[in-house]
Amino acid sequence: MIPQQFEYSAPKTLDEALGLLAEGARPLAGGMSLIPMMKLRLSNPEHLVDLGRIKDLSYIREQGTVIHIGATTTHHDVESSPLLRGKCPLLAETASHIGDVQVRNMGTIGGSVAHADPAADYPAALQALEAKIVLKGAKSERTVSAADFFVDTFTTALESGEIVREVIVPVDGSGTGTSYQKVLQPASGFAIVGIAVRVRKQGDKVAMARIGVTGLSNRAFRATAAEKALEGRSGSPAEIQAVAALVGQGVDANSDLHASADYRLHLASVYAAKALAVALGRIA
Ligand SMILES: Cc1cc2nc3c(=O)[nH]c(=O)nc-3n(C[C@H](O)[C@H](O)[C@H](O)COP(=O)(O)OP(=O)(O)OC[C@H]3O[C@@H](n4cnc5c(N)ncnc54)[C@H](O)[C@@H]3O)c2cc1C
Repeated sequence: MIPQQFEYSAPKTLDEALGLLAEGARPLAGGMSLIPMMKLRLSNPEHLVDLGRIKDLSYIREQGTVIHIGATTTHHDVESSPLLRGKCPLLAETASHIGDVQVRNMGTIGGSVAHADPAADYPAALQALEAKIVLKGAKSERTVSAADFFVDTFTTALESGEIVREVIVPVDGSGTGTSYQKVLQPASGFAIVGIAVRVRKQGDKVAMARIGVTGLSNRAFRATAAEKALEGRSGSPAEIQAVAALVGQGVDANSDLHASADYRLHLASVYAAKALAVALGRIA
């Protein structure tokens, strides 16, 4: 299929791009989600603003206790970054699970979070990391937590004329273990269920547990009941099983041709147990 006719701009500065977006244009990043939607005529923007030529929008920088990742940083750059692999391995591991090599070479972190596909991988990790997302419009900039950013299926806290400028994740020091475990839809690679776990121990007790879930329902979320049930425990195999069973508690699970709601809930529990065991085992 061929998309409807559209105007195309490739500004070199963020200010220029934001000016065009304020007039109603639509941002284009890797095009991995937007272009197929345009070809299917599910989306018919009249004017695309390509963010790919803006120099200072693709970066991975450490600053104190956090790492800033620019919006047009590709999944491949996240996956292969020595800084992220060393200091925020959950995000690098999650990026390595996205689609295939072509998708990871073109797709961007800003495009993925802005698109907010309920089966996308990053949102689970960003929930577990308690990441922050910086949104920039022509006149102002604001920072939103991942918990508040993902509102519903394909719906975020982004307002008209705003772009995702960067994603901020914490530096995870020693004593933290993380893992992303996913059941994928074989044709696309998207998550039928994806579980991101981040745990920290003090002595032999779990002092902090964060569990991000994607694919299970209308949006990625934190399984807070399961997190609370693990904190203060040693993380024994029996405790892991009990905690994992809480991950889907009270969730209105998706049902589609790939997996029924009951099956998704079952997978969430099994893969949460796997992710918890791996993350606890990785605590250095
Ligand atoms: C075959 C295939 C397999 C895939 N498998 C997976 C998978 O396993 N897991 C997974 O998570 N994803 C998967 N994806 C999606 C992929 O990760 C895309 O890269 C991502 O969804 C969109 O990123 P993009 O940079 O391509 O954005 P685009 O397609 O360019 O844009 C997507 C949307 O975000 C908007 N947008 C883009 N950048 C910004 C910004 N900075 N600020 C505000 N809005 C913006 C656009 O206007 C558009 O609405 C797959 C895609 C394909 C084609």
